[in-house]
Amino acid sequence: MTPKNSREKKTEDRQKFNYEEFEEVLEEIKEEDYDTIGLQGPDGIKPQLIDYADQLEEHGFDTVIIGASTFGACGIADEKAERMGADALIHVGHTRFLHPERQDMDDLNVYYLPYREDRDLMGVLREHYEEIDAEKVGLVGVTQYMDRAEEAREFLEDKGFEVVEGKTGLRTTEPGQVLGCDAGAAHNIAHKVDAFVFLGSGHFHPSQVSETGKDIYVVDPYEEHIWVEPANSLDDETRAEHARVIKHKDKKKWGIVTSSKKGQNYMQAVQIAKEKLEKHGKDVYVFVEDRIFEPDYKGFGIDIYVNCACPRMTKDWQDMAFVSPSALDVLNEVDIEHE
Ligand code: SF4
Repeated sequence: MTPKNSREKKTEDRQKFNYEEFEEVLEEIKEEDYDTIGLQGPDGIKPQLIDYADQLEEHGFDTVIIGASTFGACGIADEKAERMGADALIHVGHTRFLHPERQDMDDLNVYYLPYREDRDLMGVLREHYEEIDAEKVGLVGVTQYMDRAEEAREFLEDKGFEVVEGKTGLRTTEPGQVLGCDAGAAHNIAHKVDAFVFLGSGHFHPSQVSETGKDIYVVDPYEEHIWVEPANSLDDETRAEHARVIKHKDKKKWGIVTSSKKGQNYMQAVQIAKEKLEKHGKDVYVFVEDRIFEPDYKGFGIDIYVNCACPRMTKDWQDMAFVSPSALDVLNEVDIEHE
C-alpha cells in the first residue's frame, strides 16, 4: 500500500472530525476585519486545535493558542487571547455558558464550536431501549450527544414512549443540555416525567440529574448499554459535606474560595456564604485563584473552606474540608463553641 502523504492524511482527519461547524465559523470570521484569532479547548481535542490553527493560517489569520485545557465554557479565555492581540476567540468543545449571577462572559468576540462525540449512541438506544422501564421520559444529555437528541426523541416516540424534551438550564443554551453544575434542564420538567433518558456516559452528569428524585436511564456509547443511575444518588455526598461542617463547627477561621475564571467567579455566593459564617461568629477570609488546587490552601492555618467556584470540585477534594455554601445551613442546627 502506498503511504499517505500528509495532505491526504489531513483531509482524512478533517472528514473524521466533522469540520462542518468549524467551516461555518471560518466563513463568519472571514467576513470580519480580524487579524489574529485565539483558540481554546479541552484536553483530548488538542490535535484538532492545531489543525484549526493550520486552517486559519491558510486563510491569512495569525493565531494564538491557549495552553491550559478548559473543563467548560465557564473558563472562557478571551482576556488572555486579547492580551496576545487576538481580535476574536474560538472556544472549542462547549456551548456558550451563561453566568448564573448574570456577569458578562465575553469581552472579546467569541465563537463556540461544541464538540460532538463520534460514537454510536443511536445504535445503543436501538438495541437496549426495552430496558427503559417508564412511560413518560424526560430527554436530557451532555453537549457531546445533544446533536442526536431529536433523532433519539423520534425513535423513543416511535416505540411508544411519551417524551418530554428538557428545557435550557440556568447556565446552558441547548434544550436538554446538562452540565456538572447545572441540571436545570431536567429539574424544569421533572414533575412531568416518570424517569429520565440521559444521552452520555459516566456518573458525573447523571448524578446531578438524579437530584430530581427520578431514576436516570443512561444511554452510554462507551459502555455500549443502558444502565441506571438511581434517584438521589448524591445524597451520600451531601451527608458527607454536612459531616465535614459539623466536624469543624467550632473552628474560628474559615476560608471561602472562588475562581477568577469568568464562569466560576460567584461573588453573590461569596457574599451569602460570608454572611452565613459571620452570623455564627466566624473570622472569614476570601481567596481567589484561576485554577483551584487543594495544596495552595494548606499553610494558611485554616482547616475548612467553602467552595464558591466550580460546584463539582467540592466532590473531588478529599484531604481537606471543602464544602458547598448550602452545607453551611447545618450550622443553624448545632451548638458552636469556638476553640
Ligand atoms: S461543572 Fe464546573 S467546569 Fe463544568 S461547566 Fe460547571 S463550573 Fe464549569
